[in-house]
Amino acid sequence: MKEKRIETKCIQGGYRPTNGEPRLVPIVQSTTFKYDTSEKMGQLFDLEASGYFYTRLQNPTSDAVAAKICALEGGSAAMLTSSGQAASFYSVFNLCSAGDHVVSSSTIYGGTYNLFAVTMKKMGIDFTFVDPNCSDEELEAAFRPNTKAVFGETIANPALVILDIERFANAAHRHGVPLIIDNTFATPINCRPIEWGADIVIHSTTKYMDGHNATVGGCIVDSGHFDWLAHAEKFPGLTTPDESYHGITYAEKFGKEGAYITKATAQLMRDFGSTPAPMNAFLLNLGLETLHLRVARHCENAQKVAEFLQKHEKIAWVNYAGLEGNAYHELAKKYMPNGTCGVISFGIKGGRKAAETFMAHLQLAIIATHVADAQTCVLHPASSTHRQMNDEELVAAGVGADLIRLSVGIENADDIIDDVAQALAAV
Ligand SMILES: *Cc1c(COP(=O)(O)O)cnc(C)c1O
Repeated sequence: MKEKRIETKCIQGGYRPTNGEPRLVPIVQSTTFKYDTSEKMGQLFDLEASGYFYTRLQNPTSDAVAAKICALEGGSAAMLTSSGQAASFYSVFNLCSAGDHVVSSSTIYGGTYNLFAVTMKKMGIDFTFVDPNCSDEELEAAFRPNTKAVFGETIANPALVILDIERFANAAHRHGVPLIIDNTFATPINCRPIEWGADIVIHSTTKYMDGHNATVGGCIVDSGHFDWLAHAEKFPGLTTPDESYHGITYAEKFGKEGAYITKATAQLMRDFGSTPAPMNAFLLNLGLETLHLRVARHCENAQKVAEFLQKHEKIAWVNYAGLEGNAYHELAKKYMPNGTCGVISFGIKGGRKAAETFMAHLQLAIIATHVADAQTCVLHPASSTHRQMNDEELVAAGVGADLIRLSVGIENADDIIDDVAQALAAV
């Protein structure tokens, strides 16, 4: 059958009921699965047959939802994780061990930065952070003989910097390593990094994919393109026998299409257990069914709000790639011709004091640390998440004292603009 378009995959991807089966992905709320003989179950443990034995490793509900996200991204295999943080960790740790090195964009989610620079560093994995706008020479210089991957975000949270995915993919491939892209903010509706050369795509499904502020979750998708055996000496975990799994060599047994996700499931899920609850996978699936509609409306609303802000006399600056003249407008047009995301950042003339007054007068926009759900949410980092920093430290962190982050929801755009306008009038 002809490959379906992305809207159809949002609704029907991943799960096709047969005669008399439930139309909606069933919640398989069971820790374990029954087998007629020990031998039959043994085949699963040997990875000789596919099937389920323990939900910590795999569960049919989660697998159906992972298959949908896999189809949306155009990958070969995928797995859900219990959070975006778990997805980031697994995606890198599946390729690295103590003594290895990773090149990462410096403008990434704060939680990911902490995971890499502090926690994974304690595990003996080194990261070099490069400015996504660095010169080709600087990017080349970041690689070492022990580099195992390159990492970046399509649209960085919260800096809203857009990564030149093709450039980073080419650099990674010149050095024989895969590019891992966190595609949380763009979603596969607006950008499919695999089409631009990314090898592995990850998500915090907590954001637009769930989209209703209901469930924390993550996902890892493998493109199936990276040839592990061609770089066998760099990736012994994939290209030499796994003694903890009966001597299986993942790249030989499961090929380019299956090796990476099978290893992440059989080793990392088995040992770390960051598995989502089947109920959460079910809720995520409901979010995915309307992803294409919601993302389009988020972008349409955000564009209107950004244009309103840009024209307002009390506004000092607006950062939204959809605006003409934004530093990332051209990259946005190349990678995301249908829009970027619903998140805008801006500053009000009068700095910290003006921002605090503005926040205090909002009525519709909800003060929350969250982004990317149906409700419009707003955050002033200097007086909340970053309040321990002084003004100089805030500037150094790229989050000035005046910065307001607005996650534009899918309410009526005029109501959002009215709310912003009346709060600005109070400044
Ligand atoms: C939120 C977020 C994460 C972390 O995801 P959790 O689901 O909160 O663990 C990772 N990357 C990006 C870009 C995010 O916005």
